[in-house]
Amino acid sequence: TPVVGVLAVQGAFREHRRHLEALGAQVHEVRLPAELDGLDALVLPGGESTAMGRLLDAFDLWTPIRALYNRGGVLWGTCAGAILLSTDILGAPPQDGGRQRSLGLLDVTVQRNAFGRQVDSFVAPLAVAGLDEPIEAVFIRAPAFDRVGQDIEVLAAHHGRPVMVQTARVLATAFHPELTMDTRLHALFLQQIETRRPEVDPNVAVEEKI
Ligand code: GLN
Repeated sequence: TPVVGVLAVQGAFREHRRHLEALGAQVHEVRLPAELDGLDALVLPGGESTAMGRLLDAFDLWTPIRALYNRGGVLWGTCAGAILLSTDILGAPPQDGGRQRSLGLLDVTVQRNAFGRQVDSFVAPLAVAGLDEPIEAVFIRAPAFDRVGQDIEVLAAHHGRPVMVQTARVLATAFHPELTMDTRLHALFLQQIETRRPEVDPNVAVEEKI
C-alpha cells in the first residue's frame, strides 16, 4: 500500500483523505516537516494559494516538500495546490507587490482565477486522457495551465486551456476531483505512485533545483 500525505494546513484536505483511503491507501495529514518522512507521495489540496503559501512559510515546509520530490516522491496539486507546484504564476499577485512563492516543480505558467471569480464557479463534463467516460469537474476560482513546458503531458483541457497535466512525478489538476464521489482520478494518482516506484533508487542523491 502506498503511503500518501495530504498537506493539511488549509483547504479541502479531508475530502482527499477520504477518497484515497477508500482506494486502500494509507493516508497521513501533514502539518510538520517530520510528517513528510516515509511518504511515497503528497497531495497539495485546493484552497487559497497565497494563504497556503504563507502557512508553508510558517511551518517551514517548502524545503522538506522539495526534498520529498527529490527522493522520488510523487506530488499532486489540485487548484491552489497546483498553483504552488508551478514555476510561473500569473494573476492576483500578493498584496505586498512581491512575487508569489512556489515550489517550481512543474514547468508551467499558471493563470490564477482563469475562468472567473467565485460566483463563476461551475461544474463541467471533462474528457480525461486514459478514462473511458468523462468526469464531472468542479471548477472553483480555478487556474489554467496556459503555458506547458516540454515533456509535460496535457491530460485534459477546458475550452482549449489545459486543466490537467502530468509529468513523471507530478500531477496537477485545476479543478477539484475530491469534491465529487468519483474516485477515478485518485486511482490514477495511486497508479502513478505505483509505476514510478521501481525506477527510484533511494540511495541516489538527486540534486535540488534552485
Ligand atoms: N483561486 C485560488 C488561488 O488562486 C484557488 C482556488 C481553489 O483552490 N479552489 O489560490
